[in-house]
Amino acid sequence: MSQLTFTLNDGNKIPFLAFGTGTSHFKQDVTEPASLAIEKGFTHLDCAQVYQNEDTLGAAIKASGKPRESFFVTTKLSSALEPGDTVSDALRKSLTRLGLDHVDLYLIHGPRVSFKDNLKETWKGMEEAKRAGLAKSIGISNSGAPEIEEILSVAEIVPAVNQIEFHPYFLSVHGTTYELNKKHGILTAAYSGLAPLHKAKGGPLSPIIDQLVETLSKRAGKPVSPAQVLGKWHQAKGNVLVSTSSKAERLEEYIAIPTLPDLTEAEVKLIDDIGRTHFFHLYVGIL
Ligand code: NDP
Repeated sequence: MSQLTFTLNDGNKIPFLAFGTGTSHFKQDVTEPASLAIEKGFTHLDCAQVYQNEDTLGAAIKASGKPRESFFVTTKLSSALEPGDTVSDALRKSLTRLGLDHVDLYLIHGPRVSFKDNLKETWKGMEEAKRAGLAKSIGISNSGAPEIEEILSVAEIVPAVNQIEFHPYFLSVHGTTYELNKKHGILTAAYSGLAPLHKAKGGPLSPIIDQLVETLSKRAGKPVSPAQVLGKWHQAKGNVLVSTSSKAERLEEYIAIPTLPDLTEAEVKLIDDIGRTHFFHLYVGIL
């Protein structure tokens, strides 16, 4: 199945749906779950230095037998640089673990946590890594207005992506980060994007999602799931959706999202409006 992609501000293309190797796969061997995701059609694989599983993600990529160009691999600079290391040195270590010669996207993982005293220099190091061909695109994660503005004050290359917690229950407080990303041409990648369906279950969106499941199922001529409705909301917002599962049925549901009919503008606005009435934030402290 060909993947829906968005075009980044540097001209590179990024697949809409990403399979994450953090959260439930944190510090786990991901050979099996990542191989399942690849089998189900995921090409965008999201990893990080701190997840301590770049090596097994690399093993799954290799075991697939598919060419390198068929994957979009993201990893993240999570920890402060080791003494004497540059950002490129840290990325080379990730690449060795992954068994790759470049990543498609390299992100500063926690600017507020590990890089708050040297964010500008770290961004310049990210730019060097891109110029050296170690990362095709570079970006940030968990960044709000202060971090975005600090980086833009020195950037010769504008971040291509800001990967943040993002779902409708995030709009009332952090909707401005999404708007700021948009203003600067930075693509929002949403993690915990399906939180209203499990981690923040039972909120005011539940009846609206149920209603939209019915509407969209009629429009599609086949059953549509709540995750697919929320996935269509992310697609309409132009977000990359980074989720994860160890279950084949969920991966199949996620990968089919782009093939389903779109939500109307009014339906997207309904989710926005109801979402704004309730605030939920899972990863407090990093954004
Ligand atoms: P998800 O919200 O996708 O949740 C994943 C977990 O929830 C899995 O254990 C899955 O279990 C379970 N799950 C999924 N759907 C349901 C459901 N409908 N009902 C009950 N349980 C469900 O994880 P996140 O979005 O938080 O994280 C996804 C990825 O995003 C991470 O793996 C990581 O790559 C990235 N991430 C990045 C962060 C950053 O700081 N940049 C922070 C957090 C995440 P099961 O296996 O049973 O399906």
